[in-house]
Amino acid sequence: MDGTVVTTKYWHKLDDGRLQCDVCPRHCHLKDGQRGLCYVRQRIGDAISLVSYGRSSGFCVDPIEKKPLNHFFPGSAVLSFGTAGCNLACKFCQNWDMSKSREMDTLADQASPEQLARAARDLLRADGGGEVVMTSSVAGLVGIGSSIPYCASKAALNNLTVTLARALGPEIRVNAVAPGFIDGEWLREGLGDAFEPIKAAMLQKSPLDKVCTPDGAAQAILALITGPDLITGHVLPVDGGMLIGG
Ligand code: SF4
Repeated sequence: MDGTVVTTKYWHKLDDGRLQCDVCPRHCHLKDGQRGLCYVRQRIGDAISLVSYGRSSGFCVDPIEKKPLNHFFPGSAVLSFGTAGCNLACKFCQNWDMSKSREMDTLADQASPEQLARAARDLLRADGGGEVVMTSSVAGLVGIGSSIPYCASKAALNNLTVTLARALGPEIRVNAVAPGFIDGEWLREGLGDAFEPIKAAMLQKSPLDKVCTPDGAAQAILALITGPDLITGHVLPVDGGMLIGG
């Protein structure tokens, strides 16, 4: 296998021998050699692989107005990149030649995570500076979360926040938000009947009698971007004070 084909983890075997991809709600059922609707995930032997890793259909610096955001930093620029393949099938797609491409030539550009990060850094510096905000979790601060790997990866992200802040200054500030328990659809579905009792326990620990919400996390990110330009290398808990609670 070359570097653009990587084995994935989120699938499981069905009773009839096919593999079900669990990455998106399409839940494609694949026999050996078959690709999912997105075309970039394929069953190869007894696993489902991503066959477009590190490849892009192109890079471009676009006006932010081209993005589906409502009055977000008008007049600024955004680094666009994408890969071929899509798990939707909209008849009005304006990128159909990429989203439904069956030609791997469409993915000619190299786009490893490292290359994308370097391109973003260079563009931010050329633009006079900017801000990076990581999405971490209180799990990376206190070691309590859905799993040990999750806690450890968020702790690494917190450390990366500090080291990148040193490396990318003075032009670029780097901070992170660390939400606590989030009252949102994802956790409600994931915890099922356990959601309300756990939320009640978290509220008891919060001096503000609040838990984080998706909007609260977004507001914290925006505050770090638009706030004083003196803050860098910090991980900001967004948890209603749960960490200092009893
Ligand atoms: S469309 Fe792609 S990502 Fe979605 S379930 Fe099918 S193979 Fe997986």
